[in-house]
Amino acid sequence: MTLPPIDGCTQLVGLIGWPVEHSLSPVMHNAAFDALGLNWRYVPLPVPPGQVEAAMRGLVALGFRGANVTVPHKQAAMPVLNTIGPSARALGAVNTLIVGRRADGTPVIGGYNTDDKGFVGALRQGGFEPEEGGDVVVVGAGGAARAVVFGLLWSGIGKIVVLNRTLERGRALVSDLGPLPQPLPEAGRGDSPFPRREGGRGVRLCALPLTPETLVESARAADLLVNATTVGMWPHVNGSIWPGGVPIPAHLTVFDLVYNPLETRLLRQARGSGARAIDGLGMLVRQGTLAFEMWTGEEAPIEVMRAACESMLKERKDSSQSKRLVF
Ligand code: NAP
Repeated sequence: MTLPPIDGCTQLVGLIGWPVEHSLSPVMHNAAFDALGLNWRYVPLPVPPGQVEAAMRGLVALGFRGANVTVPHKQAAMPVLNTIGPSARALGAVNTLIVGRRADGTPVIGGYNTDDKGFVGALRQGGFEPEEGGDVVVVGAGGAARAVVFGLLWSGIGKIVVLNRTLERGRALVSDLGPLPQPLPEAGRGDSPFPRREGGRGVRLCALPLTPETLVESARAADLLVNATTVGMWPHVNGSIWPGGVPIPAHLTVFDLVYNPLETRLLRQARGSGARAIDGLGMLVRQGTLAFEMWTGEEAPIEVMRAACESMLKERKDSSQSKRLVF
């Protein structure tokens, strides 16, 4: 199919961020509009720091249907919202806006966060069922790690240990995302890094400093290892959270949120040890499909969207502008 020409009926969505010129999202969403023959367009909207409120009010004035929000505006957009979804409220950050007007003409801006569901969807797609209750090690404590932990807490997973270089940030994540949304399960293995509560019940979420020792020990007792740091991302493609020369346990599923490059050193280490490896593009695409469906009400063509991203990553792999591809 071919995108209908832009005319007075064209519906607009976009990406508010700074910078946005290397984003995969316009290619991904415009490919989806094209595949479904929708008269919609997705445009990059470069908004300097400090101007997100003006930009969001501008979306209403210009008749946009919605937008994605990325760095550095994900938190700053929150006070401008009229309605806030549960994930966005819990995470204190938004990545998707729905823009409209009430019957009386009053503007309404709704803010949502689809990263948590995007992560869990990509995890399932990769063959790991969190409902089966395995234990998880999440490395990192930034915005992406928060979405991962929040998604996992609601999915039925067993226990989560957060390892972060800056321990205070890991502790803040644990404190902000607790109290836990589900009953605490019994404490697991005797060598579990999870502290025990009185009465023998284990807590489901804890933070430890990231060292090679805490990582290897925690991962041995877990079922899923998630890299939610920037380690391994272009241009530092030889970086990995996992120490060289130590095999990754073959029973682990390893999920790397980094998608530029798609095949990170961590994922090569995982595959080399016989562990299951899941790349970060699935999460990026799924958070995009959720936004697409919220805006259009149509089922998102997920394969088309992934293929569009893969082809852009491949096309730009060796070119100089490539390398800073972002959501
Ligand atoms: P962020 O808020 O800046 O957090 C960065 C995290 O990386 C922090 O935990 C930081 O630890 C850690 N870190 C950075 N350099 C490190 C190093 N040399 N050694 C150990 N830890 C290090 O970033 P974010 O937004 O959470 O993004 C994290 C990653 O997720 C990025 O690669 C991003 O592209 C990816 N991501 C992917 C998706 C997707 O859809 N696939 C979505 C969102 C993000 P400290 O706290 O100690 O600084």
